[in-house]
Amino acid sequence: MEYRLNRRTGDSLSVIGIGSAYLGKAERDEGVRALRAAFEGGINFFDLAAGDGRAFPLWGEALGDVRDRVRYQIHFGADYTHGAYAWTLEKDAVLRSVDWQLSRLRTDTIDYGFIHCQDELSDWEAYRKNGVYACLLHLKEEGVVRHIGLSSHTPAVAGRILDEVPVDQLMFSLNPAYDRGRGEFANGSADERGALCRRCAREGIGISVMKPSSGGQLLSAAQSPLGRALTARQCLRYALDTPGVLTAMCGVRNAADVHALLHVFDGPEEEPAFTPGDSPESAQAAERCVYCNHCQPCLAGLDIGLINKCYDLARAGDGMAAEHYRQLSRTAKNCTGCGHCDKRCPFRVRQSARMAEIARYFGK
Ligand code: SF4
Ligand code: SF4
Repeated sequence: MEYRLNRRTGDSLSVIGIGSAYLGKAERDEGVRALRAAFEGGINFFDLAAGDGRAFPLWGEALGDVRDRVRYQIHFGADYTHGAYAWTLEKDAVLRSVDWQLSRLRTDTIDYGFIHCQDELSDWEAYRKNGVYACLLHLKEEGVVRHIGLSSHTPAVAGRILDEVPVDQLMFSLNPAYDRGRGEFANGSADERGALCRRCAREGIGISVMKPSSGGQLLSAAQSPLGRALTARQCLRYALDTPGVLTAMCGVRNAADVHALLHVFDGPEEEPAFTPGDSPESAQAAERCVYCNHCQPCLAGLDIGLINKCYDLARAGDGMAAEHYRQLSRTAKNCTGCGHCDKRCPFRVRQSARMAEIARYFGK
């Protein structure tokens, strides 16, 4: 299992996380077995925006004895006290639900307390006015909540909240369909969505991806808004190659699903979800380097992804990134313009031209 560091919190999070949308429907023993298999396979990050309140005792039973070795996202605004999931902006309901969840999870700490599901600015205004955000902060001061998270499907709203309050982890809906304006949560333009992710990368806010396969839709040619099926591996690779992303949260129904997830990257590398010959609607999201290095190997020995990342961060004012670039032994100046990467890049970045631009910017 690969782990990525949240620079704000110091937590090292497994790149595959477990979401809780479906586990509430599992038989008790099967659900417990699935969560324990995930933990034993190296997964240490779990999202508790469950589809059903019956999921919570499964976590308590499966992971109560290893609680200090796993990290939970708990959502202030998800009410389970009546069984099924309900969204709420009412402070008393939020606090009642959080207490209810903690008792079933067998814990008294919250690793990431989430400002839950903010897709309208009016919701955020109500969240503050009703005192829900103040409660979250109060619990952080008391040490019950360790870090603050935010979940949203809407880049403009997420960006506004990030402007106003400190957030350590963003949960955002991200997949190849949404980034091409297709599907239920394809909120915001490709530019807005990409800018939000790059901002998180720059500011050290970790991203947990929700809906990496749009709830499984992208895995089926009949259901996919892209009109063709992708593999689970392509969807996860796409999420994990996006700037700022630390982990992709995957819904599982049973231990067999967990087993498949733990082996999703086994075997030879697959083609990325999108290739240069893909349909025109992908053009909106194209031509932006996401540092994935799918274009490697560079015949001049350049770390293309890293060079591009340093460049973007340096232009955004990150002096450490500029310094890091200057320490590289092979820089954009060493690019021969051979065009190999231009042909390989699934995002149609004209990388040979970009290398010339980067060499001009840094003067090396
Ligand atoms: S040029 Fe394309 S393939 Fe290469 S790192 Fe950038 S986005 Fe990835
Ligand atoms: S164009 Fe430059 S960066 Fe791309 S493969 Fe050739 S030498 Fe490497």
